[in-house]
Amino acid sequence: MGESMELDFICGQEIDAQKATEQGLTSMYDGCTYVFCSRECKQEFDRNPSAYANLDMGDSDGGEDLYTY
Ligand SMILES: [Zn+2]
Repeated sequence: MGESMELDFICGQEIDAQKATEQGLTSMYDGCTYVFCSRECKQEFDRNPSAYANLDMGDSDGGEDLYTY
């Protein structure tokens, strides 16, 4: 109940966000918190956050502006 499952962007598995937070397996990037299953995954993300953080943004130079300011 009230569990918050988040996706580990590195290995793709679902993890309990609360447990990850308690274990310090989180990283802040671009205003979002990313959670990881292990230190290895967190370190991999920290090494190159932009490569992973952009995965779900559909970010490209295609010309369509997804943002409305
Ligand atoms: Zn992982």
